[in-house]
Amino acid sequence: MRRHPNWLKIKIGGGESYVRMKSLLRNGKLHTICEEAKCPNIAECFGSGTAVFLILGDICTRNCRYCYVKHGKPTPLNLDEPGDVAESVKKLGLKYAVITSVTRDDLDDGGANVFYETIREIKKLNKNCNIEVLIPDFKGKIESLKKIIDANPDVINHNIEVVKELFQEIRPQGNYEISLRILKDIKKINKDVKTKSGFMVGLGESKEQILNTMKDLRRANVDFLTIGQYLQPSRNHVVISKYYTPEEFDQLKKIALDLGFKHVESGPLVRSSYHAEKVLCL
Ligand code: SF4
Repeated sequence: MRRHPNWLKIKIGGGESYVRMKSLLRNGKLHTICEEAKCPNIAECFGSGTAVFLILGDICTRNCRYCYVKHGKPTPLNLDEPGDVAESVKKLGLKYAVITSVTRDDLDDGGANVFYETIREIKKLNKNCNIEVLIPDFKGKIESLKKIIDANPDVINHNIEVVKELFQEIRPQGNYEISLRILKDIKKINKDVKTKSGFMVGLGESKEQILNTMKDLRRANVDFLTIGQYLQPSRNHVVISKYYTPEEFDQLKKIALDLGFKHVESGPLVRSSYHAEKVLCL
């Protein structure tokens, strides 16, 4: 494990909002990707009443080499989960809710129905809340994607996570082309849905590979992009190959905007839902 450079200052959690959020999540027996994936922005986001709800349990059927989420045999579905998430969104007074999930390759629909129910329940209880879903690849199943679009979320996000050349090594059960196709299909099914994707740097990619990934995402009609620094969550995860400086992240942002992305968040601590609500006015 390498010592982080001084521009990577990670805040420690605390304060009234942070404690309230933690207690609400425990009482509702809910999970967040913020906690499960050891997100470096948890103090800032929980402190401002923002969280990314993790549905379909907290055990993933895949095992990406950078990811801290538990993997193995998932627990049975919690049928109360959509209603519980909607109640929590209401209690927190969220104007922008982000819902994501572990990957559930064990389910025929990959969990699309639970996403659907969760979006519908949130809308029922929270008339003015915008919803972003960060979805898995559903193994490319178009029926699952249609189900998500039917529920009418405001933004659909699917992270490509790494450049094409590293995909097989870092995400062995995933597929770069399937992920791109999922993103492209969203606009084909409904051109009005806003689409988003993101990737990490610092895993051994070259600048040219980054550029090609951005171009692929633009060809898939992705509207919004996030770029962040990979941080090794434990000794058992893939080692960081490079720390990008804030200036390099600024350069990547400029390149992405020049390629036509409508909004880009690029920085050492940027994660896919960081400042997610900023895209609302676009
Ligand atoms: S599919 Fe997603 S949650 Fe599962 S291991 Fe990979 S990054 Fe983590």
